[in-house]
Amino acid sequence: MRAVNSPNTPPVSSLANPIAELQKQVSASRLNLFHQCRLKFMFRYVLRLEKPPTPALHVGKTVHAVLQAWNLKRWRKQPFDNERLKELFNDHWLALQEGHDIDWEGVENLEKDKAWKLLEIYWLETPIKANEMPEAVEVLVEAEIRGQPKLVGILDLVRSGGRIVDFKTCAQTPNPETAAYQHELQLTCYALLYRHATGHQESGLEIHHLVKLKAPKVIITTLPPITEAQVSRLKKAIDSYVQGLDKLDFVPSTGLHCSYCEFFNECRNWH
Ligand code: SF4
Repeated sequence: MRAVNSPNTPPVSSLANPIAELQKQVSASRLNLFHQCRLKFMFRYVLRLEKPPTPALHVGKTVHAVLQAWNLKRWRKQPFDNERLKELFNDHWLALQEGHDIDWEGVENLEKDKAWKLLEIYWLETPIKANEMPEAVEVLVEAEIRGQPKLVGILDLVRSGGRIVDFKTCAQTPNPETAAYQHELQLTCYALLYRHATGHQESGLEIHHLVKLKAPKVIITTLPPITEAQVSRLKKAIDSYVQGLDKLDFVPSTGLHCSYCEFFNECRNWH
Protein backbone atom coordinates (compact mmCIF):
# COMPACT_ATOMS: atom_id res chain seq x y z
CA MET A 1 0.00 0.00 0.00
CA ARG A 2 1.31 3.39 -0.92
CA ALA A 3 1.28 5.77 2.03
CA VAL A 4 0.09 9.28 1.33
CA ASN A 5 0.29 11.93 4.03
CA SER A 6 -1.57 14.62 2.19
CA PRO A 7 -4.47 13.73 -0.06
CA ASN A 8 -4.23 17.06 -1.89
CA THR A 9 -3.40 16.93 -5.58
CA PRO A 10 0.36 16.30 -5.83
CA PRO A 11 2.62 18.40 -8.06
CA VAL A 12 2.36 17.78 -11.79
CA SER A 13 5.84 16.27 -12.00
CA SER A 14 4.95 13.42 -9.65
CA LEU A 15 1.83 12.63 -11.69
CA ALA A 16 3.47 12.77 -15.11
CA ASN A 17 4.02 9.05 -15.56
CA PRO A 18 0.72 7.71 -14.23
CA ILE A 19 -1.12 10.35 -16.25
CA ALA A 20 0.71 9.44 -19.45
CA GLU A 21 -0.08 5.77 -18.87
CA LEU A 22 -3.74 6.50 -18.18
CA GLN A 23 -3.95 8.50 -21.40
CA LYS A 24 -2.57 5.66 -23.50
CA GLN A 25 -5.25 3.17 -22.58
CA VAL A 26 -8.82 3.45 -21.34
CA SER A 27 -11.37 0.93 -20.08
CA ALA A 28 -15.05 1.18 -19.24
CA SER A 29 -14.37 1.13 -15.49
CA ARG A 30 -11.79 3.94 -15.68
CA LEU A 31 -14.06 6.00 -17.87
CA ASN A 32 -17.09 5.48 -15.66
CA LEU A 33 -15.22 6.39 -12.51
CA PHE A 34 -13.64 9.47 -14.11
CA HIS A 35 -17.07 10.78 -15.09
CA GLN A 36 -18.64 9.82 -11.77
CA CYS A 37 -16.04 11.56 -9.59
CA ARG A 38 -12.64 12.74 -10.80
CA LEU A 39 -11.23 12.97 -7.30
CA LYS A 40 -12.10 9.34 -6.58
CA PHE A 41 -10.49 8.45 -9.92
CA MET A 42 -7.33 10.24 -8.81
CA PHE A 43 -7.21 8.39 -5.48
CA ARG A 44 -7.68 5.02 -7.18
CA TYR A 45 -5.79 5.29 -10.47
CA VAL A 46 -3.27 8.12 -10.06
CA LEU A 47 -2.26 7.81 -6.40
CA ARG A 48 -3.21 4.11 -6.41
CA LEU A 49 -4.40 4.11 -2.82
CA GLU A 50 -5.43 0.62 -1.82
CA LYS A 51 -8.39 -0.18 0.40
CA PRO A 52 -9.62 -3.52 1.73
CA PRO A 53 -12.60 -4.82 -0.24
CA THR A 54 -16.03 -4.22 1.27
CA PRO A 55 -18.23 -7.27 2.00
CA ALA A 56 -20.44 -6.28 -0.97
CA LEU A 57 -17.41 -6.15 -3.28
CA HIS A 58 -16.21 -9.53 -2.04
CA VAL A 59 -19.64 -11.09 -2.66
CA GLY A 60 -19.72 -9.58 -6.17
CA LYS A 61 -16.22 -10.85 -7.00
CA THR A 62 -16.97 -14.37 -5.74
CA VAL A 63 -20.28 -14.60 -7.60
CA HIS A 64 -18.57 -13.29 -10.74
CA ALA A 65 -15.74 -15.84 -10.45
CA VAL A 66 -18.18 -18.75 -10.08
CA LEU A 67 -20.26 -17.58 -13.04
CA GLN A 68 -17.05 -17.33 -15.07
CA ALA A 69 -16.17 -20.93 -14.14
CA TRP A 70 -19.72 -22.06 -15.05
CA ASN A 71 -19.46 -20.33 -18.45
CA LEU A 72 -16.02 -21.81 -19.10
CA LYS A 73 -17.23 -25.29 -18.28
CA ARG A 74 -20.07 -24.97 -20.80
CA TRP A 75 -17.63 -23.56 -23.36
CA ARG A 76 -15.19 -26.47 -22.85
CA LYS A 77 -18.09 -28.95 -22.70
CA GLN A 78 -16.91 -30.10 -19.28
CA PRO A 79 -19.40 -31.66 -16.89
CA PHE A 80 -20.52 -29.69 -13.86
CA ASP A 81 -23.07 -30.20 -11.12
CA ASN A 82 -24.30 -28.36 -8.10
CA GLU A 83 -21.81 -30.05 -5.78
CA ARG A 84 -18.79 -29.09 -7.94
CA LEU A 85 -20.03 -25.53 -8.31
CA LYS A 86 -20.45 -25.29 -4.53
CA GLU A 87 -16.84 -26.44 -4.07
CA LEU A 88 -15.69 -23.79 -6.53
CA PHE A 89 -17.72 -21.20 -4.67
CA ASN A 90 -16.14 -22.18 -1.32
CA ASP A 91 -12.64 -22.07 -2.87
CA HIS A 92 -13.16 -18.63 -4.41
CA TRP A 93 -14.70 -17.30 -1.20
CA LEU A 94 -11.49 -18.08 0.65
CA ALA A 95 -8.96 -17.35 -2.11
CA LEU A 96 -10.34 -13.89 -2.87
CA GLN A 97 -9.94 -12.90 0.79
CA GLU A 98 -6.28 -13.79 1.00
CA GLY A 99 -4.15 -10.80 1.95
CA HIS A 100 -7.23 -8.67 2.67
CA ASP A 101 -8.77 -7.76 5.97
CA ILE A 102 -12.46 -7.52 5.20
CA ASP A 103 -14.59 -6.00 7.92
CA TRP A 104 -17.47 -8.52 8.06
CA GLU A 105 -18.94 -7.09 11.27
CA GLY A 106 -19.54 -10.67 12.44
CA VAL A 107 -21.83 -11.71 9.59
CA GLU A 108 -19.49 -13.43 7.14
CA ASN A 109 -21.37 -16.76 7.22
CA LEU A 110 -24.68 -15.02 6.67
CA GLU A 111 -23.26 -13.12 3.69
CA LYS A 112 -21.73 -16.31 2.32
CA ASP A 113 -25.06 -18.18 2.52
CA LYS A 114 -26.81 -15.28 0.79
CA ALA A 115 -24.20 -15.23 -1.99
CA TRP A 116 -24.59 -18.97 -2.68
CA LYS A 117 -28.40 -18.68 -2.61
CA LEU A 118 -28.11 -15.88 -5.15
CA LEU A 119 -26.21 -18.17 -7.52
CA GLU A 120 -28.70 -21.00 -7.04
CA ILE A 121 -31.57 -18.66 -7.93
CA TYR A 122 -29.62 -17.42 -10.95
CA TRP A 123 -29.17 -20.94 -12.32
CA LEU A 124 -32.89 -21.60 -11.82
CA GLU A 125 -33.99 -18.43 -13.60
CA THR A 126 -31.33 -17.68 -16.21
CA PRO A 127 -32.42 -17.84 -19.85
CA ILE A 128 -29.07 -19.54 -20.60
CA LYS A 129 -29.61 -23.28 -20.93
CA ALA A 130 -27.03 -25.66 -19.42
CA ASN A 131 -26.13 -26.96 -22.89
CA GLU A 132 -25.92 -23.53 -24.58
CA MET A 133 -22.49 -23.05 -26.13
CA PRO A 134 -21.00 -19.58 -25.52
CA GLU A 135 -19.30 -17.64 -28.32
CA ALA A 136 -16.73 -16.20 -25.88
CA VAL A 137 -16.07 -16.17 -22.12
CA GLU A 138 -14.04 -13.57 -20.18
CA VAL A 139 -12.15 -12.54 -23.26
CA LEU A 140 -9.73 -9.61 -23.16
CA VAL A 141 -10.29 -7.38 -26.19
CA GLU A 142 -8.47 -4.26 -27.40
CA ALA A 143 -9.50 -1.72 -30.01
CA GLU A 144 -7.38 0.97 -31.62
CA ILE A 145 -9.57 3.98 -32.31
CA ARG A 146 -8.01 6.73 -34.40
CA GLY A 147 -7.06 9.80 -32.36
CA GLN A 148 -8.03 8.20 -29.05
CA PRO A 149 -6.40 6.02 -26.37
CA LYS A 150 -6.51 2.28 -26.90
CA LEU A 151 -9.83 0.90 -25.64
CA VAL A 152 -9.53 -2.31 -23.60
CA GLY A 153 -12.03 -4.48 -21.82
CA ILE A 154 -13.01 -7.97 -20.74
CA LEU A 155 -16.28 -9.34 -22.07
CA ASP A 156 -17.92 -11.51 -19.36
CA LEU A 157 -19.82 -13.62 -21.85
CA VAL A 158 -20.88 -13.51 -25.48
CA ARG A 159 -23.82 -15.83 -26.12
CA SER A 160 -24.15 -17.64 -29.37
CA GLY A 161 -25.26 -15.30 -32.16
CA GLY A 162 -23.32 -12.35 -30.72
CA ARG A 163 -25.34 -11.37 -27.62
CA ILE A 164 -23.04 -9.61 -25.15
CA VAL A 165 -23.86 -10.39 -21.50
CA ASP A 166 -22.69 -8.44 -18.47
CA PHE A 167 -23.26 -9.84 -14.94
CA LYS A 168 -23.91 -7.51 -12.04
CA THR A 169 -24.72 -8.04 -8.37
CA CYS A 170 -26.70 -5.33 -6.62
CA ALA A 171 -28.62 -4.76 -3.40
CA GLN A 172 -31.76 -3.22 -4.88
CA THR A 173 -34.07 -4.20 -7.71
CA PRO A 174 -32.89 -2.25 -10.77
CA ASN A 175 -35.25 -0.39 -13.05
CA PRO A 176 -34.55 -1.80 -16.55
CA GLU A 177 -34.75 1.61 -18.27
CA THR A 178 -32.47 3.45 -15.88
CA ALA A 179 -30.14 0.44 -15.66
CA ALA A 180 -29.64 0.57 -19.42
CA TYR A 181 -28.90 4.28 -19.19
CA GLN A 182 -26.61 3.96 -16.15
CA HIS A 183 -24.49 1.32 -17.85
CA GLU A 184 -24.55 2.86 -21.32
CA LEU A 185 -20.85 3.83 -21.38
CA GLN A 186 -19.78 0.36 -20.32
CA LEU A 187 -22.08 -1.46 -22.74
CA THR A 188 -21.04 0.80 -25.62
CA CYS A 189 -17.38 0.02 -24.85
CA TYR A 190 -18.17 -3.71 -24.95
CA ALA A 191 -20.10 -3.43 -28.22
CA LEU A 192 -17.26 -1.47 -29.86
CA LEU A 193 -14.71 -4.01 -28.64
CA TYR A 194 -16.84 -6.87 -29.96
CA ARG A 195 -17.15 -5.17 -33.35
CA HIS A 196 -13.40 -4.60 -33.57
CA ALA A 197 -12.62 -8.19 -32.59
CA THR A 198 -15.12 -9.93 -34.87
CA GLY A 199 -15.85 -7.46 -37.67
CA HIS A 200 -19.59 -7.98 -36.92
CA GLN A 201 -22.22 -6.00 -35.13
CA GLU A 202 -23.48 -7.57 -31.89
CA SER A 203 -27.02 -8.92 -32.10
CA GLY A 204 -27.92 -7.33 -28.76
CA LEU A 205 -26.83 -6.85 -25.17
CA GLU A 206 -28.08 -8.26 -21.87
CA ILE A 207 -27.52 -7.14 -18.30
CA HIS A 208 -28.03 -10.01 -15.85
CA HIS A 209 -28.63 -8.45 -12.44
CA LEU A 210 -28.38 -10.79 -9.44
CA VAL A 211 -30.27 -8.93 -6.74
CA LYS A 212 -29.20 -9.56 -3.12
CA LEU A 213 -32.57 -9.27 -1.40
CA LYS A 214 -33.87 -11.41 1.46
CA ALA A 215 -35.59 -13.36 -1.29
CA PRO A 216 -32.92 -13.02 -4.02
CA LYS A 217 -34.00 -12.51 -7.59
CA VAL A 218 -32.67 -12.19 -11.10
CA ILE A 219 -33.54 -9.34 -13.45
CA ILE A 220 -32.56 -9.66 -17.10
CA THR A 221 -32.49 -6.47 -19.16
CA THR A 222 -32.24 -7.03 -22.91
CA LEU A 223 -31.09 -4.23 -25.19
CA PRO A 224 -30.78 -3.76 -28.95
CA PRO A 225 -27.41 -3.22 -30.66
CA ILE A 226 -25.63 0.02 -29.78
CA THR A 227 -26.52 2.99 -32.00
CA GLU A 228 -24.21 5.44 -33.79
CA ALA A 229 -25.37 8.15 -31.38
CA GLN A 230 -24.20 6.03 -28.43
CA VAL A 231 -20.83 5.44 -30.09
CA SER A 232 -20.51 9.19 -30.64
CA ARG A 233 -21.33 9.86 -26.95
CA LEU A 234 -18.69 7.34 -25.90
CA LYS A 235 -16.05 8.98 -28.08
CA LYS A 236 -16.86 12.38 -26.61
CA ALA A 237 -16.63 10.90 -23.10
CA ILE A 238 -13.17 9.55 -23.99
CA ASP A 239 -12.10 12.96 -25.38
CA SER A 240 -13.26 14.61 -22.17
CA TYR A 241 -11.31 12.00 -20.15
CA VAL A 242 -8.09 12.76 -22.04
CA GLN A 243 -8.57 16.52 -21.73
CA GLY A 244 -9.38 16.28 -18.01
CA LEU A 245 -6.20 14.30 -17.41
CA ASP A 246 -4.19 16.85 -19.42
CA LYS A 247 -5.43 19.60 -17.11
CA LEU A 248 -5.13 17.48 -13.95
CA ASP A 249 -8.77 18.29 -13.38
CA PHE A 250 -9.62 16.18 -10.34
CA VAL A 251 -12.47 18.09 -8.74
CA PRO A 252 -14.78 16.06 -6.47
CA SER A 253 -18.38 15.38 -7.56
CA THR A 254 -20.44 14.87 -4.45
CA GLY A 255 -23.68 12.92 -4.55
CA LEU A 256 -25.44 9.76 -3.42
CA HIS A 257 -22.41 7.72 -4.50
CA CYS A 258 -20.35 9.31 -1.67
CA SER A 259 -22.20 7.07 0.82
CA TYR A 260 -20.25 4.04 -0.40
CA CYS A 261 -16.99 5.76 -1.41
CA GLU A 262 -13.94 4.10 0.14
CA PHE A 263 -12.02 7.39 -0.05
CA PHE A 264 -14.50 9.38 2.02
CA ASN A 265 -11.91 10.35 4.67
CA GLU A 266 -9.27 11.32 2.10
CA CYS A 267 -11.89 13.37 0.30
CA ARG A 268 -12.88 15.27 3.45
CA ASN A 269 -9.23 16.36 3.84
CA TRP A 270 -8.75 17.35 0.21
CA HIS A 271 -8.84 21.03 -0.77
S1 SF4 B 1 -16.57 11.01 -1.16
FE1 SF4 B 1 -17.75 11.54 -2.99
S2 SF4 B 1 -16.82 13.42 -3.77
FE2 SF4 B 1 -15.36 12.48 -2.38
S3 SF4 B 1 -14.01 11.23 -3.64
FE3 SF4 B 1 -15.63 9.90 -2.91
S4 SF4 B 1 -17.21 9.98 -4.50
FE4 SF4 B 1 -15.83 11.71 -4.83
